[in-house]
Amino acid sequence: MWVPRGRVTGGSSAINGQFFLRGVPEDYDDWADRGNDEWSYEKVLPYFRKFETDLDFPDDFHGTDGPILVRRFKEHEWLEPQAAFRDAALDAGFPYVEDFNHPDATGVGPLPLNNVDGMRISANVGFLNPARHRLNLTVRGDCLVRRLIFEGKRATGVEVESGGERFIVEGEEIILSAGPIGSPHILMLSGVGPEEQLAAAGVPLVHHSPGVGQNLRDHPLLSIGYSTKPGYPMDPDAPRYQVILRYTAENSPLRNDMQIVMISFASEPVATGGDGRTSEGIAIFPVLNKAVGKGEIRLGSADPTVQPLLDYNFFAEEEDRRRFRDGLRLCLSLGEHESFKDIIEARTSPSDEALDRWFMTYARTCHHISGTCKMGPAGDPEAVIDQYGRVYGVEALRVADVSIMPDCVRANTNATAMMIGERMADFIAEGVPA
Ligand SMILES: Cc1cc2nc3c(=O)[nH]c(=O)nc-3n(C[C@H](O)[C@H](O)[C@H](O)COP(=O)(O)OP(=O)(O)OC[C@H]3O[C@@H](n4cnc5c(N)ncnc54)[C@H](O)[C@@H]3O)c2cc1C
Repeated sequence: MWVPRGRVTGGSSAINGQFFLRGVPEDYDDWADRGNDEWSYEKVLPYFRKFETDLDFPDDFHGTDGPILVRRFKEHEWLEPQAAFRDAALDAGFPYVEDFNHPDATGVGPLPLNNVDGMRISANVGFLNPARHRLNLTVRGDCLVRRLIFEGKRATGVEVESGGERFIVEGEEIILSAGPIGSPHILMLSGVGPEEQLAAAGVPLVHHSPGVGQNLRDHPLLSIGYSTKPGYPMDPDAPRYQVILRYTAENSPLRNDMQIVMISFASEPVATGGDGRTSEGIAIFPVLNKAVGKGEIRLGSADPTVQPLLDYNFFAEEEDRRRFRDGLRLCLSLGEHESFKDIIEARTSPSDEALDRWFMTYARTCHHISGTCKMGPAGDPEAVIDQYGRVYGVEALRVADVSIMPDCVRANTNATAMMIGERMADFIAEGVPA
């Protein structure tokens, strides 16, 4: 499976699809119910508003003067396949939604994007660029953090490699924001993680933290590809995504646990491990936005340049297979709607048989990996950090990125990543000790 991450300033927000969706309120309330009462929807909403300027909805749920600009394509700007998808979904009985970041939204409508007039508003553009002049900020690119330095149980710095040199950067407090793969990896390389894995790799133990790398949460997806009618115009510069459907799977207690995305492709095929992407065509894909199953990240080597082992463990649970199978069937029926009759030539995948075998083989990640340094109360054996970001068992070390999510939100994860950054920054500014 293809697992890219943004190895660049701004991280994966610099390379992602720019869907700018919040989780549903129940996601954050669930984090609070798991012993993280500072992270309820009511408490995180001001942080979502703080960093956002929503150009379409300046109201109580949206920000009006934050650095991340958000907008939706207006209906007159929609590509024909995107409008056809809306019509198919409306005819299937789903309501029209104007604003997917409204807490009650469910149905089909325009996707909020952190892209305005073709300009990506990444974390680098939105947060870092306006702060680059500050004298107390140094940004160094091309640096690989090899490990954290501990004096006893106290984190005092990071060992960095850059341009063939190795050096140590010290700090009174270290904040690890290397993402859902990098943060648990660095913790394990530094001796904080499951004891038996560290011992097997030959990493000296600083603190046995069995939850590091566990609780891997993500959203599996699988594209259904279509070839378009001969000569159907596909503009390589046109936006890929404009309209989505968010809905609740039949008999599921989890609201908005499914997402269906309409994608207008015009690019050359990309080598993604045979996932059925089509060039000069279009695709419709379901995303399981609230999986029951979990995976894990394991340390394979003490060498920081060797990637850790990722086991997403998708579809181990029948409830996940059931909802995904139904989602695939829904996509197939939407693709057969008459609104596509002048657009679609033929479905290129899958055959009508063997849906399960097909998606068990080809499903891939929606890149919303998270949860691998889980936040939780001290009594939770899987918890790696407390709700103020502090790593259990050591001192002067926090984690602040999507790895801390107790469970993945029912949405693309970038907006929540930014909220986590803002929330943690406030704890630090308020003087919550490390
Ligand atoms: C291809 C793709 C598409 C996506 N599409 C969307 C989308 O459309 N909408 C959405 O909401 N979300 C999307 N996401 C997910 C979203 O972008 C991420 O959840 C979010 O960026 C995570 O933020 P983070 O800070 O936790 O980690 P990251 O953004 O991954 O940042 C981690 C940073 O740490 C650095 N790092 C890691 N290890 C080391 C090391 N050892 N030394 C030095 N630096 C290190 C990395 O280079 C990177 O800069 C997508 C992700 C991907 C990969």
